[in-house]
Amino acid sequence: MTLTKKADRRPDRRPGTASWGLAARDVPWEYAPAPEATDHIHLEPEYGLFIGNRFAPSKPRKTFTVINPATEEPIAKVAHASKADVNRAVTTAREAYRSTWSKLPGRERAKYLYRIARIMQERSREFAVVESMNSGKPIKESRDVDVPLAAAHFFYYAGWADKLDYAYPNRQPRSLGVAAQVIPWNFPLLMLAWKIAPALAAGNTVVLKPASTTPITAYLFADVVRQADLPPGVVNIITGPGEIGMELVTHPDVAKVAFTGSTAVGKMIARAVAGTGKKVTLELGGKAANVVFDDAPLDQAIEGIINGIYFNQGEVCCAGSRLFVQESVYEPLIDKLKARLSTLRVGDPLDKNTDVGAINSAGQLAKIQELVESGIAEGAEIFQPDCELPTRGFFFRPTLFTGVSQSHRIAQEEIFGPVLSVLTFRTPEEAIEKANNTPYGLSAGVWTEKGSRIFKMVNAMKAGVVWANTFNRFDPTSPFGGYKESGYGREGGIHGLGAYLDLSSGANGR
Ligand code: NDP
Repeated sequence: MTLTKKADRRPDRRPGTASWGLAARDVPWEYAPAPEATDHIHLEPEYGLFIGNRFAPSKPRKTFTVINPATEEPIAKVAHASKADVNRAVTTAREAYRSTWSKLPGRERAKYLYRIARIMQERSREFAVVESMNSGKPIKESRDVDVPLAAAHFFYYAGWADKLDYAYPNRQPRSLGVAAQVIPWNFPLLMLAWKIAPALAAGNTVVLKPASTTPITAYLFADVVRQADLPPGVVNIITGPGEIGMELVTHPDVAKVAFTGSTAVGKMIARAVAGTGKKVTLELGGKAANVVFDDAPLDQAIEGIINGIYFNQGEVCCAGSRLFVQESVYEPLIDKLKARLSTLRVGDPLDKNTDVGAINSAGQLAKIQELVESGIAEGAEIFQPDCELPTRGFFFRPTLFTGVSQSHRIAQEEIFGPVLSVLTFRTPEEAIEKANNTPYGLSAGVWTEKGSRIFKMVNAMKAGVVWANTFNRFDPTSPFGGYKESGYGREGGIHGLGAYLDLSSGANGR
């Protein structure tokens, strides 16, 4: 790796991305570019809907263009599904459920899931590059986190497919039918795996709608489905705007709805399917508290804080976006945090050195800018490293706010960007009260050397996942989900399997 002393170059200063804080001379090193190769990638100019193991244009034929958020260049055109296409996809899934998938023994379903997992591993480089091109996330994250974890979900749930009776003793687990799955743009392939793997293991068929900005790895996955010889109609993928998502989840032949996305859309879906008997899981927004006590190993905590909020540009529902620091360590921690922030490399997602890639869309960038401006207007103090931003694409500097009060919008609303709000506390009780002062309840973190304090905090913080002395760790065996406005139901682990089963009958049929 070549390191060059940075000359006195001035960073790009665009409206809303002005830099405050460290001067360029305090950021001493520049890395030579280390771009990931893209010549092994083959992308189609246009992707049709994937229904019954065939790609076909929407009816009537209509498309929209998907772009690379780091370059604003088009990647491909994808089909814009109509209401009739939704009906066709659900009917195909229903028929595949009735005629094939629900009749296969669990051990046969497991073979398909293992096959999918292995093909994803074999094609992992291709998936990683395309995921970074389409979502804007750094290649080191798609390569080391998204793709391996997505494959791990298929391996994990393959293991359960023939053990449902053992998983639920004294119950008679039954598959539900067709699952409608609507997923967001922040982890396109991983969310697909979280949804499809347990659904198939439990014996359901699926129709999945990816987010409109990030459908490309879902269509690569469709190719994996064909390669794995999955019976036609078991997995169907359709693209189109939010209304198409609503058509899908409200379709009368859909038995199960799984949604990950904003709280606003989650509430609309919950209202629309209320009383229909559909089983529903909603994984929505978050505003996680990351609480650092004065006995925490500070250097380790700094890495956890950085990973907690700047991983995936902060576009993470469980991001540690509110940092609570015990007053006695506030100053040393903030000094270290600013120094570490200044070493983050922002830029080309396909560069292996990049830490913070592109924001997923112009709309999301505008939302981040608006909330950051509200933080300044409400009196919080902003710090941004003086790093250069590419001149094209949707980029935002990693940002830190101090002097934040609990009523500030940046402490209340989900920003979904690389923006950290720092608050302070004196006692554990005060930390708990402040951490829980949010309409959300998805995740939290605690940093301390005392085991007893970890247990106290974990029990007192109203969050579905609480990390201790780490942050943003995921594993297919661990359930994930929230309280309050973060939604309901769990994904991952045996809990995530139960969400795709009818467990109302006992083993003796009652
Ligand atoms: P949305 O909730 O709108 O999008 C998530 C998924 O839902 C996408 O596939 C979207 O399709 C689809 N969708 C949109 N409207 C409807 C609808 N009426 N009925 C059914 N499905 C629908 O999130 P946004 O992309 O608008 O992001 C807005 C904010 O939401 C972000 O700034 C962030 O705060 C939060 N968010 C939270 C996520 C999480 O993981 N908790 C993930 C994404 C966003 P399409 O892409 O075609 O609009």
